[in-house]
Amino acid sequence: MMAQYLGLKAEAGDCLLFYRMGDFFELFFDDARIASAVLDIALTARGEHDGERIPMCGVPVHAMDGYLARLIKAGHRVAVAEQTETPEAARKRMGSKALVNRAIVRVVTAGTLTEEALLDSRSANWCAAIGEAATGVAIACADISTGRFEVIETSPDRVSAELARLNPAETIACDGTGFAELATATRPKPDFDSAGGEARLERLFGVATLDGFGGFSRAALAAAGGLVAYLDHTAKGSLPFLRPPRLSRTDAAMAIDAATRESLELSLSQAGTRKGSLLDAVDRTVTGAGARLLGLDIAAPLMDRAAIETRLDLVQRLHDDSGLRDLVRGALRALPDIGRALGRLAAGRGSPRDLGQLRDGLDGAWRLGERLDAIAEPPRLLAELAPQLRGHGALIDLLSRALVPEPPIDASNGGYIAEGYDAALDDLRDAGAGGRRAIAALEAEYRARTGIAALKIRHNGVLGYHIEVPARAADPLMRPESGFTHRQTLAGVVRFNAPDLHDVALKVTQAGAHALTAEAAHLEDLTAKALERREAIAATADALARIDVSAGLAERAAEGGWARPALVDHGCFEIEGGRHPVVEEAIARTGGRFVANDCKLSEESRLWLVTGPNMGGKSTFLRQNALIAVLAQAGSYVPAASATLGLVDRLFSRVGASDNLARGRSTFMVEMVETAAILAQATPRSFVILDEVGRGTSTYDGLAIAWAVVEAIHEDNRCRCLFATHYHELTRLAERCDALTLHHVRAREWKGDLVLLHEVAEGPADRSYGLAVARLAGLPPLTIKRAKAVLDKLEAGRAKTGGIAAGLDDLPLFAAAAEAEEEKVDALRTELDGLDIDALSPREALETLYRLKGLA
Ligand code: ADP
Repeated sequence: MMAQYLGLKAEAGDCLLFYRMGDFFELFFDDARIASAVLDIALTARGEHDGERIPMCGVPVHAMDGYLARLIKAGHRVAVAEQTETPEAARKRMGSKALVNRAIVRVVTAGTLTEEALLDSRSANWCAAIGEAATGVAIACADISTGRFEVIETSPDRVSAELARLNPAETIACDGTGFAELATATRPKPDFDSAGGEARLERLFGVATLDGFGGFSRAALAAAGGLVAYLDHTAKGSLPFLRPPRLSRTDAAMAIDAATRESLELSLSQAGTRKGSLLDAVDRTVTGAGARLLGLDIAAPLMDRAAIETRLDLVQRLHDDSGLRDLVRGALRALPDIGRALGRLAAGRGSPRDLGQLRDGLDGAWRLGERLDAIAEPPRLLAELAPQLRGHGALIDLLSRALVPEPPIDASNGGYIAEGYDAALDDLRDAGAGGRRAIAALEAEYRARTGIAALKIRHNGVLGYHIEVPARAADPLMRPESGFTHRQTLAGVVRFNAPDLHDVALKVTQAGAHALTAEAAHLEDLTAKALERREAIAATADALARIDVSAGLAERAAEGGWARPALVDHGCFEIEGGRHPVVEEAIARTGGRFVANDCKLSEESRLWLVTGPNMGGKSTFLRQNALIAVLAQAGSYVPAASATLGLVDRLFSRVGASDNLARGRSTFMVEMVETAAILAQATPRSFVILDEVGRGTSTYDGLAIAWAVVEAIHEDNRCRCLFATHYHELTRLAERCDALTLHHVRAREWKGDLVLLHEVAEGPADRSYGLAVARLAGLPPLTIKRAKAVLDKLEAGRAKTGGIAAGLDDLPLFAAAAEAEEEKVDALRTELDGLDIDALSPREALETLYRLKGLA
């Protein structure tokens, strides 16, 4: 057995090996140590290997899903080795010392899950592969829990942004390429060969050429081929269901890099939770599939105006007609997740319950489709979707006749095929039931015959049906003439068999076994019938998800008084009464009111410089406008009284380093790297928000960098930009940059207290309010007083020298010059302070004088 185990373990490579032994999966050696620690189960030992006890632990087969989930979550991969023959077959083959054959039937990895228990019902579970060819780079990704398959043509510099959008559970790259470091696993080169990939895809989809799917580039073939090879590897040859791939190009969506996603908290909050994210704040979907699709939409806002308007038209209809919206949402809420049920069936891991879900889901879809078909003048998207909800009549009918109302997950005990579906099966069941009645009758008869009232007929796995009596009453039955045969004596009870019981029991068991076999054959047949229609079923699931997303967005819009955005071709960005959906919700929870603000960027005023006190609402204002752009292009209403915007091709958000200290990186370096990316990539159609950029370094450096960045964005990138800063000096840029305008968040001091109005107004902030904010934050009064004294001194000094911004007019080296001057003075002072004049000889005094002159 050890030899067999070690062979399988070698094949499993870096996966933990689950080795099936009867009702358990056992793990040995280091696998056992790892698993027992992660799963918190007992580590035992068994036998010896090379003179050492072998560490071992095990999990029961029926509870395997939960254990797998925890191992996968902890970052492990698991190879499952099953027994591939029965012990009887092995004995026939090898005699009494038989070892059953085992083989790895499946490799469970984070990206290749289908089990309900292991997946989050509200997010997609991507497995991605990066492929490369001379022509470019592509990413292929599949969610095998639903069969969704996408191939995205991209470029080397956008691979990591694409991956940030997809957030795959697993990423595969080719051994030895530059992308290996972005991957969670690498696979050998031949897997990523584009010609091999083409052949693999043709085989998978049973076509002679891929032309029908649209033009695959070499890179796309490499990526898709690499992905399919990997899925094949994990499924050990039984490839899961993949739908025909959807080809897209990176530039079909708004480009949003990883740093921007993180800073805007699009799909995840900075704490890494869905709660607190934009997605969570807009999600009012009522199905798992709807939530998954909304997640994809928000992650990839569209660049195609017509496509956005199509989505918006449906949202508007559902927004305006609340009766229709309620009807749709009510119908959807009751539907099971047919996409994932289909995924499990297609992966060969389906259960009777999955078929039941298909039946109920498709039936619900049909009925919803009928209602939607009856709607007058449907928006185009609805007219497209409604027919896809219907057309499974024959399958629904078949499943309705074949299955009981609530089929079980576990098929092994049968009982899922409905009465009346198969007369032969009904007969077997009758025979079984008749047999059970006969057994009950026998029990009564035995009691009467023996006079033992406590006599019972019982059933267990070892003895089958048998007679059980208390030990004290057993003696008469032990005699041969009693007609009973002794089988077993336990403490307290003695068990017997009898010929007539044996006969009836045989009938019952046989009928039961035959019934189980018949049910299993039906299950297989029904599954095959459902899978014949899997393309169409998947399309129905997609249509339901799209309707759910639209109705959910309509609901959210109605709830929050949101507006339909108007999309235009020129580079404007005009928001009236804009709000931040996440901050607004948080404020509302504490009983506060969010102050809505306008943002009007145009050709003449495309760069807004926003100043004002800390905590005044600058970041919130910047972000809410970026979020409005995301929502609008994802096809959603936006949190504003009105919104008109030209499409945004790339969105950037950067936050000054000191806000990110918790992340513990060289934050200023990160800030500069990210800012450099904006200057390199932002186009006139882009939208950029920069929040306190430059604050991660000294005042002079920071101001200089902020100044230069604003100038570059204004002169070279010419994108729409909101720039928040506490460097009051930057407001002087308005004099030289004609499309830059000044704005501030308003604040007032009232009876010595600072009141933050959170209102964005025109013009620069009149003062900085830093001390007032400090008081608001609870700094002790004495400290505030001292700070005030220091501030007065500093301000007096600034008035004399012209202040930190003195010399800004003589660019370029305003800051460096002032700093150098200060350094010189410092050096002279240090030198003077260190002089002990009484100790100097006349000659040393003269030398010192020369040195000081040199410093000046
Ligand atoms: P700043 O960037 O100027 O330091 P923030 O944007 O971080 O300020 O806002 C600070 C806090 O003020 C937020 O956490 C929020 O509670 C509140 N706030 C911001 N904007 C508004 C608004 N428009 N209406 C009401 N409260 C707001």
